[in-house]
Amino acid sequence: MCIICTEEYKTVENLTILDCSGCTNLTKIPMIPGLRDLYCNNCTSLTKIPIIPGLEILDCFECTSLTEIPIIPGLETLYCTGCTSLTEIPIIPGLKKLYCFGCTNLAEIPMICGLQTLQSRYCTRLTKIPFIPGLQYLSCSNCTSLTEIPVIPGLKELNCHKCRSLTSIPVIPGLQTLNCADCTNLTEIPIIPELRNLYCCDCTSLREIPMICGLKELQCSGCTSLTEIPDIPGLQILSCSECPWIAQNPTFEENLKKLTFLQKKLKRRYIGKKLEALIPQISEIYYSPGCKGYELAKRSFCTQTHE
Ligand SMILES: [Zn+2]
Repeated sequence: MCIICTEEYKTVENLTILDCSGCTNLTKIPMIPGLRDLYCNNCTSLTKIPIIPGLEILDCFECTSLTEIPIIPGLETLYCTGCTSLTEIPIIPGLKKLYCFGCTNLAEIPMICGLQTLQSRYCTRLTKIPFIPGLQYLSCSNCTSLTEIPVIPGLKELNCHKCRSLTSIPVIPGLQTLNCADCTNLTEIPIIPELRNLYCCDCTSLREIPMICGLKELQCSGCTSLTEIPDIPGLQILSCSECPWIAQNPTFEENLKKLTFLQKKLKRRYIGKKLEALIPQISEIYYSPGCKGYELAKRSFCTQTHE
């Protein structure tokens, strides 16, 4: 029982925020003029939400019987995560943020002009994301049927982690952060000029990392086909464990030097300026013959060549 079932909401004057989350008896939301925020999470019997003019936030997380979302003019934020009966979301003019994770029956994402944030993780039926001008943040990880990512100039962050049907990433002007980890069919990463952070761990088909001059962070651990990591000037964070490049490049010693050099940069980032002068020495000691780092690198080299 909630404030709607008890009809208590009728006694509240100027009701602007209503929360009837968790009521499993509720099948319909009444028309409540003046309502601004509606929270009806986990109302598993709910089948209908009316068009409430002026509503800005609608949060209907895990309303598993809900089959449609109304077109509410002026709605800015829609959370319909885990609404597994939804097959579509309408074009809601003015919507800025759409969170629809785990809508496993959703066949497509509407093309909503002006949408800034789209989070559609685990929408396993989706095969594509439309071109949405103005989109800044896109998270479509674990969309296992997704085969393409559109070129949306101005997109700042793209998270397509574990989209295993994806075979390529387009050049997206302005993209700063790309997380395409565990996209096991991805064979290359394009040169995206503005990219600063690249997370591509466990991309087991990836053969090389391109030279992206402004890259600050590169995480490519577990990329077992990688044979080359360029020496990117200005790189501050590098994580490349389990990458065979250390074994396959010209010589082991040379690669060790390269790794040492990159690790130095990495360590500089974490240890304060105070210790900066000591870093090259510490790093060199760590990777010196007989020391722990050297042994670890050598072991990895031997494992690779014996395979
Ligand atoms: Zn109720």
